[in-house]
Amino acid sequence: MADAVLEMQRCESCRAEFTPRAGPCPRCGGLLSERTSVEPTGRVLAATQLEVPAPGWTAPHRIVLVEVARGIRLLCVVRGALPATGDEVTVGRDGAVYSAV
Ligand SMILES: [Zn+2]
Repeated sequence: MADAVLEMQRCESCRAEFTPRAGPCPRCGGLLSERTSVEPTGRVLAATQLEVPAPGWTAPHRIVLVEVARGIRLLCVVRGALPATGDEVTVGRDGAVYSAV
């Protein structure tokens, strides 16, 4: 089951939103950030299936780029059928990996 919201971080200097992480803002290098959240539904911008994935992943490895609210884009793995560009999906998070269904 997907989370009710996805946790994000917002840089207090440039207001960029990004996935929670330790360290500075990936856009401006600012060190101060605040927690935010976003609804976990979005649209698929791109989808692909890798037959020879990186070590640690099994083929076929399905990946989608999903845009959720406020233009936040998340790279997600797909464990079922590969959605098409434009499809609405729900994003969840398992540790450091985002998944879409
Ligand atoms: Zn920043």
